[in-house]
Amino acid sequence: MTPPRIINIIVAAGSGSRFGAEIPKQFCRLTDSTVLLHAVRRIENALPGSHTVVVLSPQWAGQAGDRCIAPGGPTRWHSVKNALDACADIPADIITVHDGARPLPSSAMIRRVITACSSHHGAIPVIPVTDSLRHIDGHAVNRAEFRAVQTPQAFRADLLRRAYSLPYSDTFTDDASVMSAAGFSDIALTEGDPMNLKITLPLDLEIAKLYITHGAGH
Ligand code: C5P
Repeated sequence: MTPPRIINIIVAAGSGSRFGAEIPKQFCRLTDSTVLLHAVRRIENALPGSHTVVVLSPQWAGQAGDRCIAPGGPTRWHSVKNALDACADIPADIITVHDGARPLPSSAMIRRVITACSSHHGAIPVIPVTDSLRHIDGHAVNRAEFRAVQTPQAFRADLLRRAYSLPYSDTFTDDASVMSAAGFSDIALTEGDPMNLKITLPLDLEIAKLYITHGAGH
């Protein structure tokens, strides 16, 4: 069987206001590189032969080396859409979308979403919720019924392109929610990785360093 043609979209155009530093979190140093380049290299290494587009605000255009870039938009959805427009002419079977603020996706986890995607509309990595959960109206909910969703998420390229041709809604928090709104709701849940953290607060950088020291999922 011929391997699927894969495009990777890595979104890194957020301002990271919760992080509170002058440099957006995805460009902060992490060991020998930046958060973003860790993310990009792990995706590229796990998926040799794939094509990568990095979404960046124009003032940070140099942060992706010599890779293809697309301009960021006002929301994550707009940023992904800009990347899809930038690679509209590139044939693909599967498109992955990954947050540039998640530096440590393991290759096993990346391959799991690709494998599951070939028999579903898409696949997303999830992890159990360890905190108790409570609805904001006050009632307790059963955390066993919920999963926290990570990236990279992988989708059939034709369906993702169709889903992103529909109008924006502010209920979209990730690409799986865009797919589901378009009627493509056969999204497989695959095993994510607690070490695949999203850098949100400065302390997360220290945690990521520790994970790397301990050989976080290659
Ligand atoms: O803000 P949050 O951490 O949820 O953003 C998730 C990812 O989406 C980050 O990698 C961020 O850089 C990216 N993003 C983007 N364009 C935006 C907002 C967020 O590329 N307008």
